[in-house]
Amino acid sequence: MTVVEANSEYDLEEDRVRLRAGRCPDCGAVFCPTGTVCAACGHRGLDEILLAPTATVYTYTRVHQSTPDFQAPYDLVYADFPENVRVMLPALGEGYPVIGEQVDIVLAPGPRVKDGQLIDMPHARTAAERSEHDG
Ligand SMILES: [Zn+2]
Repeated sequence: MTVVEANSEYDLEEDRVRLRAGRCPDCGAVFCPTGTVCAACGHRGLDEILLAPTATVYTYTRVHQSTPDFQAPYDLVYADFPENVRVMLPALGEGYPVIGEQVDIVLAPGPRVKDGQLIDMPHARTAAERSEHDG
C-alpha cells in the first residue's frame, strides 16, 4: 500500500471527487498520483483508474502551524480507498475526524492558499460535516 498526498488530478461526479490514480497491469499495485513505472515491480506503464468517491479514515493529525502555502488550523487524514491505496487529504468538518469512519471525497476551498485566496482541493468530508449539511 502506498501513501501519498492528494495532489493528483481528479474527476467530478456531481458533488463528489474521484481521484485519478494508476494501477499496474502486471502486479495490480495502485498509485495516487500515478506514475510511469510501477514502484512495486518495475513494470513500465500504469493503467489509469478513478478511485472510489468514498474512503475510510486510517488516522489523522491536526496542523496548527501555517506556512506560506497552507492556512492553519486544519486536519489531515490518511484515507484508505477500496482500491488498496492510502491518500493524505485535508478533512472537512468542525470536530476531529474519527478513525474508521467513512468519508466522502468532495471539493472545498483551502487549506492551500495561492495569492491570498483559499483554493479548491479534494477533502475528506467527515460524518459530522455531512450531518450539518443533511440536517
Ligand atoms: Zn507492478
